[in-house]
Amino acid sequence: MPHILKPGGRIGIIGGGQLGRMSAMAAAEMGFHCHIFSPRDDEPALDVAPSATIGAYDDESALRRFAENVDVVTFEFENIPAESIALLESLKPVHPSRKILEISQDRIVEKSRLNAFGLKTAPWVAVTDPDALASIEAALGFPFILKQTRFGYDGKGQWRVNSPQDLEAIQDTLPYPLIAEGLVDFDRELSVIVARDLYGDAFCFDVTENRHQHGILDISLAPARISPELAASAQDIACRIAHGLELVGILAVELFLDAKGELRVNEIAPRPHNSGHWTQDACLISQFEAHIRMVAGLRAQPLTRHSDAVMKNLVGPGTYVAASKALETPGTRLHLYGKAEARPGRKMGHINALFPKGALPGDLGLAAALGPILNDGLE
Ligand code: AMP
Repeated sequence: MPHILKPGGRIGIIGGGQLGRMSAMAAAEMGFHCHIFSPRDDEPALDVAPSATIGAYDDESALRRFAENVDVVTFEFENIPAESIALLESLKPVHPSRKILEISQDRIVEKSRLNAFGLKTAPWVAVTDPDALASIEAALGFPFILKQTRFGYDGKGQWRVNSPQDLEAIQDTLPYPLIAEGLVDFDRELSVIVARDLYGDAFCFDVTENRHQHGILDISLAPARISPELAASAQDIACRIAHGLELVGILAVELFLDAKGELRVNEIAPRPHNSGHWTQDACLISQFEAHIRMVAGLRAQPLTRHSDAVMKNLVGPGTYVAASKALETPGTRLHLYGKAEARPGRKMGHINALFPKGALPGDLGLAAALGPILNDGLE
């Protein structure tokens, strides 16, 4: 019998960041209590969850204490040692599973699995040691991107290589293993979030269009301005991955729409995702509530959007000017993560600007409608 959590049930979330914070807030609304596992005692999720265990991600006794305090375990980020999840799995149900976490932690394993599902990715080759550098040109040609296979985020641990000279300049500093990816000439970056339940039913949110600045997500538009057929294909890809991996939880799929109009999967993340923050205000069930519902063993439901939305990330250091403007602008909602220091590049919060369904304006209209709040992202 699947384990269904009753109100008052205790959900353990590994990681204390903003994704854990917003998941814990959604859980509280449903009558669940979240217990956070975090290496630090000043993280955003700790402000809003009733209890926590503070310990390193590989601290076995802390992990055991954490497990004793919860009915089910989930996570809000991916860089958790696989052994720690294995230990927790031996003590309590863990959703999504260790298997999915391990796939998403390693870009080579991830791309191999996606290709095995018959899905297109960027062309890629594994570069496990310096000797393999010489073979990239023959396999992919220039330009290509070298990426660390593990622990990369927000474009960190990546090197764009346009020429043999570029490669020569960085080759003595590279960490291994790496993956080399051919550069996708993309038209747009898209993402889809899928929720799949213990019974095998899956539903997707509407497709999101994403724009980055300096390797960090800047704005997301929902719905993505693509044809209904393409949107359905993107959702179909997300469902295939969710079913193929037997997901219980939510999973974000990042996609490129290439210049030929084909969808290529970039990466997956089995957790709430920055590009799904718009769902908090534009959907009946947000990605955070969907996450909690799946982890709690509830049945998946259609993830209906009632408004169009633009999400703007507030990234340090210039956060608070935009935040106070958002508070004065009708039609926008501000979400701050309670972080003390707005260091450059640090995600401090986000703004969701809502439009009636079907009224999401084009770029110029958007700039006019949102004015000073969004101007940076539209330059
Ligand atoms: P990632 O860490 O893989 O999400 O990459 C960060 C960003 O770099 C992506 O959102 C893209 O804008 C860009 N990028 C990554 N891989 C590729 C690729 N193979 N071709 C073109 N752009 C890429």
